[in-house]
Amino acid sequence: MEAPDWRHGTAFTGCFLPGGDVCVVVPLAYGRFRVIASRSDTLAALPVPMAVAGTHHAGAFTISVRQVPRDGVGHVYLAGDAAHCPSPVGGRGMNLGIADAADFAARVAEGRLEGCSAARHATGDAVLRLSERGRRALMAPHPAAAATRRAVLRLLVGVPPLGRAALRRFAGG
Ligand SMILES: Cc1cc2nc3c(=O)[nH]c(=O)nc-3n(C[C@H](O)[C@H](O)[C@H](O)COP(=O)(O)OP(=O)(O)OC[C@H]3O[C@@H](n4cnc5c(N)ncnc54)[C@H](O)[C@@H]3O)c2cc1C
Repeated sequence: MEAPDWRHGTAFTGCFLPGGDVCVVVPLAYGRFRVIASRSDTLAALPVPMAVAGTHHAGAFTISVRQVPRDGVGHVYLAGDAAHCPSPVGGRGMNLGIADAADFAARVAEGRLEGCSAARHATGDAVLRLSERGRRALMAPHPAAAATRRAVLRLLVGVPPLGRAALRRFAGG
């Protein structure tokens, strides 16, 4: 959406909304943002008002977290969301699919496809587990969980090297 006056400008912004919902505002270009949230009336619930000048696309999505039991059978190999579908938390899905394709291409070039399916499956499994842990931690509604979450996030924001290390681990480098 277009929101040229959004006060956080080019910063990736995340906030918790009343009722345990979450929202992230991702800068795309000057004055243009992607807003992803777990409730439909997000703009009204934002703790900092966002004046929206225009909306390019609005839609709802469900979080499907799943993985095939085997990434390859015979001469058929699956990649991307067809093989493993993490939640958007961590923003790893597309990158994982690109890594599948790059790894597959390298193995084909080197004539070592053996083990490709098992290796990609293990990588997909690790990403799914990590993003699920993150999703549960971010969305746990219990007040004790919310208090812990706030304390951890304050620590990560307050100690930049720690925050960067956590981000690298969670977002995959
Ligand atoms: C809200 C949200 C935010 C996200 N943010 C990020 C992010 O920041 N970073 C990141 O890395 N990932 C992110 N992802 C995940 C990312 O969008 C997906 O992992 C990625 O798009 C998967 O790509 P894909 O090509 O495997 O599958 P898709 O993008 O689903 O492409 C599959 C294509 O196949 C077509 N198709 C399906 N069936 C048929 C058929 N029978 N015949 C012909 N065509 C068919 C579909 O129409 C579709 O175009 C996000 C996902 C969501 C929902």
